Amino acid sequence: MSRTAFAARFPDNAACARHLYEKRWPNGFVCPKCHGAKAWALDSKPFTFECAACGRQTSVIAGTIFHRSHLSLLTWFQAIYAIASHSNGISALQLQAQLDLGSYKTAWLMLQKLRRAMVDPDRSFLEDIVEVDESDIPYRTKTDPIAGGQGRSAVGKLHFIGAIELSPEGHPRRIRLAPLENFSATSIGAFVAGAVAPGTTILSDGFSAYKSLKAYNHQPKVVGKMAAHIVLPWVHRVFANFKRWALGTYHGVRKLHLRRYLDEFVFRWNRRRHMKSSFDMLLNIAASLPHAGYRDFVNQVV
Ligand SMILES: [Zn+2]
Repeated sequence: MSRTAFAARFPDNAACARHLYEKRWPNGFVCPKCHGAKAWALDSKPFTFECAACGRQTSVIAGTIFHRSHLSLLTWFQAIYAIASHSNGISALQLQAQLDLGSYKTAWLMLQKLRRAMVDPDRSFLEDIVEVDESDIPYRTKTDPIAGGQGRSAVGKLHFIGAIELSPEGHPRRIRLAPLENFSATSIGAFVAGAVAPGTTILSDGFSAYKSLKAYNHQPKVVGKMAAHIVLPWVHRVFANFKRWALGTYHGVRKLHLRRYLDEFVFRWNRRRHMKSSFDMLLNIAASLPHAGYRDFVNQVV
C-alpha cells in the first residue's frame, strides 16, 4: 500500500474506527457480555455501541492494544503503517518525528505495544528440518553505547537462541529467536519445545544440551574443529543479519528489551517476501490483544 493509498483509505479517525469495527465484528456487532447482536451507536461517545439487550456499552477499541491510549486511532494506524512499510523498522526517535508525537516516551511505548503485536498467537511449530544454535550480542546501557568487547567473554553480552526451518530440499523458511538465560539443557530444551514440532530433524552443533531432546531426530553437525557457521549456515546467517539490523536500526539492543527486538526481527524475516500483508497482520493482532501499560512493559509482565 503506497503512502497515497494509505492516506486515501484512512483519512480520519472515523475511517479507522470503521475498519476496526469490520475487523472485529465481520458479521455485525456482538455484545461481549451477553452476545446480543442488536446495538445502537452512541452519539455521546465516539465509536461506542450500547447493547439493546443488556445495556453494556462497548467501544470499538475495548479489548485492543489501542484501549486507554491518549493517542487517536488515526495516529495508531499511521504508526502501524510506518512500521510495516519500512523494511528495516524504525526507532522510537524516528517514530516520534514522523508522527509528530509529544514525547520520546510516548513513541517508545507505542513501539513496545506494536512489537508485542508482532508475535502471532496462532503461529505454528517449525517442522521438517530445523537448524538450532545459540549466539550472543553486546547490549547497550544508558551511559555507554555498547557494553562488552569483541572477545569471546560473555560479560556484557546477552545470550539468545535461534532456529530456522528448512524445506526437505534445504531452502530456508521461517525462523524463531528468543533470549536464552543460560546454556543449560533446561533453557535450550524449553525453547526447542516451544518452537519446533516433535519428530522434526534438528541440526545442531552437537552441544550436549541438544542430546537430551528425546522428542526429536537429533543430528549433531559439528565434527572436530569445524566452525559452526559452516555446518549450520542458515541459522548463522540469521544471527549475523539480526546483529547487523539491531546495530544499524537501533544502534544496539537494550538488556531489558532483547525479547522485543528478537520478536520484531522474526516478524520481519518471516514476512520478508510478503511485506504487503504486514499492515493487516499487525493490525489484526493489535486488535486482538488486551491493553498493556507502561509499567507492564518496564516490568516485563507482557
Ligand atoms: Zn449485551
